[in-house]
Formats: sequence, structure tokens, C-alpha cells
Amino acid sequence: MTATAMRTHLCGKLRAEHIGQTVHVCGWVARRREHGEHLAFIDLRDHAGVVQCVVDNSIDVRSEYVLRITGVVRERPAGTANPNLPTGDVEVGDCTVEVLHGATPPPFPIDARADDVEETTRLQYRYLDLRRERMQKNLRVRAAVNSAIRRAMEDQGFVEVETPMLVPSTPEGAREFLVPARKEPGSFYALPQSPQLFKQLLMVAGLDRYYQIARCLRDEDLRADRQYEFMQLDVEMSFVSQDDVLDAISVAVLAATEAVTGEPPPPIERITWHEAMDRYGVDKPDLRFGMELVELTDVFGTTEFKAFAGAASIKGIRVAGAAGEYGRNQLDKLTARAKELGAKGLVWLKVAADGSFDAPVAKFLAVDEAAAVSDRLNASPGDLLLIVADEWMTAVEVLGQLRSDLGRPPVHEGPYRFVWVVEFPMFVGTDELGRPKPAHHPFTMPRTDDLDLLESDPMKVRSQAYDLVLNGWELGSGSIRIHDAAIQRRVFAVLGIAEEEADRKFGFFLNPFEYGAPPHGGFAVGIDRLAAILAGEENIREVIAFPKTQSGADPMTGSPLPVDPDQLAQLGIRLMPRAT
Ligand code: ASP
Repeated sequence: MTATAMRTHLCGKLRAEHIGQTVHVCGWVARRREHGEHLAFIDLRDHAGVVQCVVDNSIDVRSEYVLRITGVVRERPAGTANPNLPTGDVEVGDCTVEVLHGATPPPFPIDARADDVEETTRLQYRYLDLRRERMQKNLRVRAAVNSAIRRAMEDQGFVEVETPMLVPSTPEGAREFLVPARKEPGSFYALPQSPQLFKQLLMVAGLDRYYQIARCLRDEDLRADRQYEFMQLDVEMSFVSQDDVLDAISVAVLAATEAVTGEPPPPIERITWHEAMDRYGVDKPDLRFGMELVELTDVFGTTEFKAFAGAASIKGIRVAGAAGEYGRNQLDKLTARAKELGAKGLVWLKVAADGSFDAPVAKFLAVDEAAAVSDRLNASPGDLLLIVADEWMTAVEVLGQLRSDLGRPPVHEGPYRFVWVVEFPMFVGTDELGRPKPAHHPFTMPRTDDLDLLESDPMKVRSQAYDLVLNGWELGSGSIRIHDAAIQRRVFAVLGIAEEEADRKFGFFLNPFEYGAPPHGGFAVGIDRLAAILAGEENIREVIAFPKTQSGADPMTGSPLPVDPDQLAQLGIRLMPRAT
């Protein structure tokens, strides 16, 4: 399959079974060593790996020259086999070398040493960076993920439909990229944050099961797990309950994981949002490690210790065996971190050899309180116990972050622990005008048993929204949608979107529902994040062929760039002077 008019084999695929065969291989010079005038060793690299070629005369080739080498595969002389190289038992001898293209010396070595090169330089010469084994592997992991997903979705009867890239502006939560409309000066398209509204209209259109590996665009500050443009497995299904959606998506992400690891992962667990917050202090728990938050509120119900007395919630975590590592200085830093995260303070207790607590606050704890803390947290000598007393949300979030800071393994370690987080609240927090903010997007259906609370106590309403989490990364979200226009208008009202505004902005979306909308729900999985975790990378840029830097630039093409005044004039745009 990999043979072409120019080559018979891939460099990295030659093995002992090929000994005796005459082969043509093509690739780049990874390394060249001259042995006097009559012998040169060339390590030739293609995407499959490197093979050693022995040339019986001196030859003028340099690093990264593109060659076609014809020769005979032979066993390496006794004692020179390289067990670290998949092709290390063999070499290509009696070589004839054709130079297909010369090469300027590259700005960094095309191997693992480039991992330490500044990222901007790697991105400026991305086509060289991508030649490297790590990056070749990452792009292929990504392709395997996409292809397994497509197969799994099609096997389940999903139909791939493409949706437009030039869309109206919609309130899905993120800042949008705008595209000026040349024929309608002053009007703009938006680039889609996701195909959300279109996929819902496909349900009204009777598609029944839609999927798309879709490009989404959001003008948000970039982070390790965020790019302006990213890919989603986007899904919508009709006549379903939450379980149907979770099942269909589980099949796809488990198939993608197996395609990369070769092993079927265990079925995906479920946890409610409240339980996730209560036990892990975060709505995207990393289940690869324990250190769960432990309930201590009742232990201190009648305490005289001021820091705990009357606290709404008291939670603790145990950092096993860490007492010795944490001197005064580090403990001060931990306390400062807890305060920066919003806690009033942090109580720490070191467990001494006899099981008693070694800490300045220990004397304020009653004997039975200390015993209960020890017991609940399963404390042993040498452990460090961290306790926060505050409002429930603050206590769990602060300890959840400390749990992650102190215990979270690197991304390439540990098993793949997917988890569904279900029963999200409908709204979290409020905007500057004090209106509830949607936890998911405004098209999410509240739980029917909570509908009565929508106007009277919106913050108590739970939604039919769910997230998929893998090893502490949020892989995606989805929900059962509102398919009843009256409920949609009530939700808009809670969000402060007036009827007139709703009609103007979403008429195109809401009116079609009047023609018969099936109950429906869906989901979107972030493919960049899934591919990054499966490739063992901490940053999604490592699994994207041509990403932007943290500041949104592309050092290779130089974009974003100013455009000609003519182009702007055609669009009816005049630039304001830049703020200095
Ligand atoms: N459009 C949503 C998102 O991008 C996913 C969904 O609700 O299906 O997060």
C-alpha cells in the first residue's frame, strides 16, 4: 500500500524479513557520518522511522536533503545491531543515492531536541517541526480518533451533514468572530461557535440522527486547552432521552480510545454535578487519583475553634505522606494559594508518629473533634491534612483546586478515566445586571420536575445538561433541548432576553419549531482535547497541525495581518486610529 512509483518500502518498516531484497526508499537525511573517503552512513527518515543506509563512497549530502536510495537489505555486522531502533537489526547496503532535493540547514534539529526549542520558532517552521517523530505520531493519533469516531457514528445510523460557516450571531456564551458582508455594508456574519442552531433545525427537518466533525470558532483568550478554532464531534438526535445521547457518544469516544490504545476502555461511569463538586470540588473531576474531599461540617457542629465555628461547610483532604515535605514556607504558600482561590484561610494539620496533630491550631481542637477528623480522613503518621471552612461552594472549589495542584498526575500517566457529569444546574452565577447566567446554553431543557421553579427560584432549577470528562479535562457538553417554544420564551425571560429581542435574534430558529419540532438532544465532544490526552500531550497545540500561539498569532504565515485599504473600502470599513 505504501509502495509508489519511486519507492518499494518505507524506511521505518524494513526488518530482518526483508534481508536479501533490493529496495528503493525515499526520505530525508536524519544523520550522515563519513568514514574516510570510501564509506558513508546515512540515516534516512520518512514518517515511518529511520533506516541506516551504507554508501560505499563519499557522497555530498547534508541534513534534511531529500534522497531516493536504492540498495539491498542486509543484516547489520555482528555487534552493531541497534536494539533501540525498530529497523536496528538491518541496514541497506550497496547503495545508489539520488538527490531529489537539497536543503538549507534547518533552524533546529529535526528530532526530540526540538522539544526544548521556543514554541514560536517551532510554529514559525511548523513544516519542519511536523517532520519529527512526536508530531507525526500526534497527527496520526488525531486521524485515528477522527476515523474511529466516523465509523462508530455511522454504525449507529448517524448521517453527516455540513452546516454553514457564515452564520448569524447567536448567544452561545463565547465572543464571536465577525465577517463583514460586502454586499450589505454595516452587516456582519458571525463564524459559528458551534453548529448548535443548525443541528437543532436538522431535527425539525427530520434528519433524526445528525453528526459532523465540525470546526467551531470562538474569540476567547487562548490556553493550553483552547484555540480560536477547534474541532468537535457534533451530534444531535431526535425522540431521545438523556441516556440515548450518553450511550451513542460513549460508543464513539470509547472506540476512539481503543483505536489509539489497542485496548477497550471500561464503560463510562456517571456522577451528578452535585456529587462531583462535593467529592472533587470541580465539575470536571480527575478520577485517576483519590484525595477526595471529606465532609467535616458535622464534626465541628458545636466547636469552640473560631475558624470553624458556625461555618456553613467544612471539608478536608488528606495529602498522604506529605507532612515531611511541607515546611513552614511551603505551608504559608499553600495558605496564600487557598486565599487567592477565595477561602478565608486554610487549616493544616500534620499527623505525628503517635497519630496526634502537629500544628499550631491543634490545641484549639477538642479531643473528640481531633479524633473524628483523623478517622474521617483516614489519617496516618506523616500525612498532611488540609481543611477549609466556608460557604459550600467556596470550600469545595478551593479544596478541589488544592487536590488538583497537589495530586494530579501528568497527562500521559494513568488510565483513561472517562466520567459523565449529569444534572448540572440550569444557571450558575449572575451577570453584571444580576440576571442568572446559563450553565450550558439557553436552548437547554430544565428538568421537568424543576420547571415550576423557573421564575420563582431559578438558581435551584436543574437542567438536562451533561458533560463528558476525561482525566480532569472537560471533553464536551450537551443537553436535551427545549422543543416547546413557550418554555424557550420563559428561559429567555429569566435570562433577560425580551420577547421582541428573542423574535428578532432567534426568530429564524424558534419559528420553525411551530412547524413540528421533535423532542431532541445532543452533544459535542472536543476532538483536539481527546486527541491531546490520547497522545499524552498537555497542550492541544501539539495535536493541531497549524495552531495559533497563545497570543493568537501564526508565526508561520504572519497572520493576523493588516489588509489593503482597497479591501477595506470594498467592505465599507474605515479603521479607527489604534489606541496607543
Ligand atoms: N453546542 C454545544 C457546545 O458547543 C454542544 C451541545 O449542546 O450539543 O458546547
